[in-house]
Amino acid sequence: MGSILLTGGAGYIGSHTAVELLRRAYHIIILDNFSNSMRSVIDRVCRTAALSETDAKSRVSLVEADLLDKAALAEAFASSPGVDVVIHFAGLKAVGESVEKPWAYYHNNLVGTLNLLGAMNAAGVSRLVFSSSATVYRADNPVPYYEGYALGSTNPYGWTKFMIEQIIRDICAANEGLSAVLLRYFNPIGAHPDGLIGEDPKGIPNNLLPYVAKVAAGELDEIRIFGDDYDTPDGTGVRDYIHVMDLAEGHASAMEYLQDRKGCCAFNLGTGRGTSVRELIRAFETACGKRLPSKVVGRRAGDLPVVYANVDLAAKVLGFTASRGIEEMCDDAWRWQQYRAAMPGNTEDQEDNSTPS
Ligand code: NAD
Ligand code: UDP
Repeated sequence: MGSILLTGGAGYIGSHTAVELLRRAYHIIILDNFSNSMRSVIDRVCRTAALSETDAKSRVSLVEADLLDKAALAEAFASSPGVDVVIHFAGLKAVGESVEKPWAYYHNNLVGTLNLLGAMNAAGVSRLVFSSSATVYRADNPVPYYEGYALGSTNPYGWTKFMIEQIIRDICAANEGLSAVLLRYFNPIGAHPDGLIGEDPKGIPNNLLPYVAKVAAGELDEIRIFGDDYDTPDGTGVRDYIHVMDLAEGHASAMEYLQDRKGCCAFNLGTGRGTSVRELIRAFETACGKRLPSKVVGRRAGDLPVVYANVDLAAKVLGFTASRGIEEMCDDAWRWQQYRAAMPGNTEDQEDNSTPS
């Protein structure tokens, strides 16, 4: 097999998938504009994958480019012959921000994807794995969520995933030249157990786990629990958290499945189990060895009480089942949080994101 191009490969999920692909002996190309990631992640990916300097040079390439720049994309494919599959992670991903800046979300996510599909077509690259989300399921579906459920959204970010899925399905249907897998992630958390890579949100995190990790690190004062009056066992919201290394393995399985398949297929990537906000906080307290301050505040607008996946299709068709539990997710997230806090460049995001001289 040729090489695998990872758009957004320097980001949270892309970097963990990169490590898993390197473990499976693939050659990878990371294409990123570093709008939400650091250049130093490339070196940390190579170290996590235990590559020698020679191996890192021959098996990992970096293309710094923006998906909005068509010429740069064409050049990326021209200078990287032998791309066999694209895994498309790149995109803006914050639900709340998408409500405030819808144009930026539609522009970056939709135009970026259309440019990518055009460049793939021109370069004769016919396989695509796309980062979709559980947010494409309509809110009135009962849990667990099945792949065949009605789709919809409630915010611009979710609509970009909905629309991109539709664009990819239509192109696959019209054109024998493209086959694709749409992966609908539930709630990815955790980090590689070696602790050198992980989620690195800028500013105050919106998602629960990175917020809890920052409270544990003393960077934020207390956890805000968004409602404890839901119809759930302890009254707090329930989600299907999946370890990011399980998710990475899911991508490798999806990509390998695509090798001899045509058409377009969607799969849930989750564990099929729900965990409440309080259960997650307790698991993190065990991981970091201290009680974490929290207070119940009002419900967050738009939140659903319970979301979890039916994961039978991925198990049956891709042979993929997540194996890591919530404790491992919290242990690994805490190890990364401590490394991140001590990392050179921790206070220098700007510098780290600037163009190297
Ligand atoms: P991330 O922000 O860490 O990674 C995305 C990467 O894409 C970043 O490195 C960013 O610099 C890059 N990027 C963004 N726009 C770009 C552009 N125009 N050109 C080139 N690079 C660009 O996000 P992540 O958590 O790793 O998520 C990856 C994908 O998975 C996203 O598409 C996201 O919507 C989707 N997803 C994430 C979650 C989650 O909870 N993290 C859940 C469901 C789906
Ligand atoms: N949540 C919370 N406090 C926070 C962030 C999230 O109580 O600071 C809750 C939220 O209401 C939901 C769960 O934690 O029930 C997961 O939220 P997250 O934003 O991580 O994922 P999503 O809601 O997008 O699935």
